[in-house]
Amino acid sequence: MKQKIIIANWKMKLNIKESLELAREYAQKFADEAATGGKEIAVCPANIALREAKDIFAPSAVKIGAQNVFWEEQGAFTGEISVTMLEEAGCQYVIIGHSERRQYLLENYEMAHLKLKTVLDHSNIIPIVCVGESLKEKESDRRDYVIIDQIQQTFGGVQILSQQQVIIAYEPIWAIGTGQVIKPADADTMHEIIHAALVDLFGIDVINKQFRIIYGGSVDSANVSDFSQLDNIDGLLVGGASLKAEDFYKIVKGI
Ligand code: PEP
Repeated sequence: MKQKIIIANWKMKLNIKESLELAREYAQKFADEAATGGKEIAVCPANIALREAKDIFAPSAVKIGAQNVFWEEQGAFTGEISVTMLEEAGCQYVIIGHSERRQYLLENYEMAHLKLKTVLDHSNIIPIVCVGESLKEKESDRRDYVIIDQIQQTFGGVQILSQQQVIIAYEPIWAIGTGQVIKPADADTMHEIIHAALVDLFGIDVINKQFRIIYGGSVDSANVSDFSQLDNIDGLLVGGASLKAEDFYKIVKGI
């Protein structure tokens, strides 16, 4: 059994003061490993709150991640943030290719590939790579094809060293922030498909030891138990329901 990981994505929903207040609540709720029930907890605040949030989380079991990274290591790239900067700020995780960036900033899987390579080649940060189909793709029965293609584009030609860990978040776009929840059995099937696509690229040993496949999309404290019994789900990525410490705490307990 892999250690389950539950990741909070605070997006751009909180200002700095609110982020730090919520970080304090998280640090209290997850004061030590025992409070997490053996699960791993990571929070991805806005970049501007990263350093201070990291200090708040330091005595607790909460780890910190970023919501994005640029694919070059250094240079004239106004507004971007490098993997070295994230590591300096104490990040242990970074989200790559979130669907909101694909939608609003026109990021594609070629960019996700470059980001993934930079993270793996130049840091010890664990990438959290997002994949997921749109409603149109789902309704036209192209879901499996789309997901396999996203995985091949992102991971094709990438080398994973034996000490490296990777997380893939299956996040159907139509389920993100909409309150529309996937049928748990459906999520389980998609995770199997993702697993098989990854095995094709890296082999079963690497996937079983070094990859975790998590689910994201309108998970909350009321529906989390639906996901708790599924064989192929190694954790959750939580947006909206991570903005209240008590709700997130219930999700961690419930998975
Ligand atoms: C997300 O943004 O990754 C996410 C899963 O959001 P929500 O939980 O709000 O659907």
